[in-house]
Amino acid sequence: MDGPAEIHDHYRFFHNKEGSFPRVTKGVENLRKAGAEFNILFLLTDKNIREPEKIYAFIKEKNYRYIQFIPSYEYDRNGKELSFSVHGEEIAKFYERIFSLWYPEDVPRVSIRLFEDVLQYLIYKRKTSCIFMDSCDSYLVVEHNGDVYPCDFYVKKDWLIGNILSQSIEELVQSPRRKEFAQRKSILSDDCQSCRIRDFCRGECPRYRPYKKGKTRKSVFCEGIQKVYSLMEKNLEGIKKSAGIA
Ligand code: SF4
Ligand code: SF4
Repeated sequence: MDGPAEIHDHYRFFHNKEGSFPRVTKGVENLRKAGAEFNILFLLTDKNIREPEKIYAFIKEKNYRYIQFIPSYEYDRNGKELSFSVHGEEIAKFYERIFSLWYPEDVPRVSIRLFEDVLQYLIYKRKTSCIFMDSCDSYLVVEHNGDVYPCDFYVKKDWLIGNILSQSIEELVQSPRRKEFAQRKSILSDDCQSCRIRDFCRGECPRYRPYKKGKTRKSVFCEGIQKVYSLMEKNLEGIKKSAGIA
């Protein structure tokens, strides 16, 4: 979802223009009643990126515990950015405000995915999201007809690596095309090569690195990642104390 009703329904409505907010929140309540665990994924767009207070108040009002913010960045066939896309500086400001609302009162009651990614790394040297790993080989996507792709962002003819109905998992995992896909992530821009948090970030997701004249550039979300890393680093001891980590 994208936030409370007035934000969510801006982009998420049915063909008759009726907003989907009541149906989405009812679905979440059904999960809660059934005792199913769930995460709430908020897409960050031009509509809600300047509304961290409203979004966080909504999270608290609904008592949502596991939160993920996914920035939206899309472009048309000519590479022209679409109007709802958001960028690193805006994301940095958004997370800075979310952090001040979250810490220390809601640590560890509310889990925010990017905060946890950084904390896991700083405390345990562990990485849990593919976007921060060395290469794109964390999983496979299997489509309804058995076709297999290396990532759900790349379910495209160019990246078809085989079919589960006629090939074994081992064969698919070892396929040269999958290895080629996996390796693309390790080709870092000059900015990333000299970045102080390179070992954590590893250039983030290749989908968000614009290419120009054959050269890769840093992620369009870079400043947001840097901001969250600095916030976690600066407040690490306090966060650990609030979370009861020795
Ligand atoms: S392309 Fe992005 S989302 Fe896909 S596996 Fe690589 S880092 Fe993950
Ligand atoms: S995308 Fe930004 S934060 Fe990540 S490694 Fe590159 S320069 Fe550093």
